Amino acid sequence: MTTRRDFLKTSAGVGVGAAVGMGSAQPLLGAPAIRRSAVTPVAIASGNGLEAVSTAMQVVSEGGDTLDAVVRGVNIVERDPNDRSVGFGGLPNLDGVVQLDSSVMHGPSRGAGAVACLEGIKTPSSVAVDVMRYTDHVLLVGKGAQRFAVSMGYDIEDLLTEASRQRWIQWRARMSNTDDYLTPEETGHADAEPPFEDEDTYGLGILDSHDGVRPQGTINCNIVNSDGDLSGVTTTSGLSWKVPGRVGDSPIVGAGLYVDNDVGAAGSTGRGEAVIKTCGSHTVVEMMRAGMSPTDACLEALRRIVAFTAEPRLQNADGLPSFNVNYYAVNKNGEYGGAAIWSGARFAVSVDGEARREQSAYLYQRP
Ligand code: ASP
Repeated sequence: MTTRRDFLKTSAGVGVGAAVGMGSAQPLLGAPAIRRSAVTPVAIASGNGLEAVSTAMQVVSEGGDTLDAVVRGVNIVERDPNDRSVGFGGLPNLDGVVQLDSSVMHGPSRGAGAVACLEGIKTPSSVAVDVMRYTDHVLLVGKGAQRFAVSMGYDIEDLLTEASRQRWIQWRARMSNTDDYLTPEETGHADAEPPFEDEDTYGLGILDSHDGVRPQGTINCNIVNSDGDLSGVTTTSGLSWKVPGRVGDSPIVGAGLYVDNDVGAAGSTGRGEAVIKTCGSHTVVEMMRAGMSPTDACLEALRRIVAFTAEPRLQNADGLPSFNVNYYAVNKNGEYGGAAIWSGARFAVSVDGEARREQSAYLYQRP
């Protein structure tokens, strides 16, 4: 069992843990966070969530609920046809069908809701809220999730934009030279159809994989209000070109999102399989409960991913993960942080009336 002295040695910063450590003679693992009297509200999101954190803060500053705040924030990105990693305009699975995953957690009521493999609904995070509020379940998938959404009044729409359809057609053509789809080089249209550049603006996604750079992306957004109440949401179109039916970490409570109103909230972007195997966001929250600062908690959860990456196909020449994972966390006292396996990632944060991007901490410098 960790002693108080061990804890104080390993705890960094003046986070929740330090507050707990100074006032308690009890063993610290599992101790609830001590709440400061005044909390400065903070919203934190993945790097594609600058508008989302601004909107979320606006909602809580007007007295709105923390979950309504983060969902209103990510709805903007879900509806944005230009964000190819979330909602409308998200890149499709290998059949060219957009399948969306999302989960939400409401700290004060200890509520959770999620949908996976949801087709045809632009705002899966709102459907996840409805699963939480209007059913006795936590997770609905596929056709059942869609039927539930329609029953709640959502419209079924085509989520594939022309740009994402073109991107998928090009992937299909170039994927293999042993199938019957001709590459632009073979059709003589290579000049007119240069390969898409898979830029990874905010370091959200994968570095490289067995089939080259694989576009990924997601939005996670977490918030704490001035009462110390927390909520979080994660929403995504998931891994591009995925096997139909594949579910990532985003709709899995404890993997792509976890909120404990006594401690903090955390969420992830990046290779979902690695996050699921290590119960990632739950691990981050448990590390904060044990006294780590949000940034240190994120780094510790990432170290577990590195330790769990045993497959040579997922390792680079140095034996390190060839993919990226990002965590974003905020604790009940309004301290926040983000970290990634590889350097160069950024997160969005809104605090003290300003929304900005900050560099994430990291385990390894990108080569
Ligand atoms: N985590 C998402 C998934 O695995 C994708 C991402 O964030 O890049 O579905």
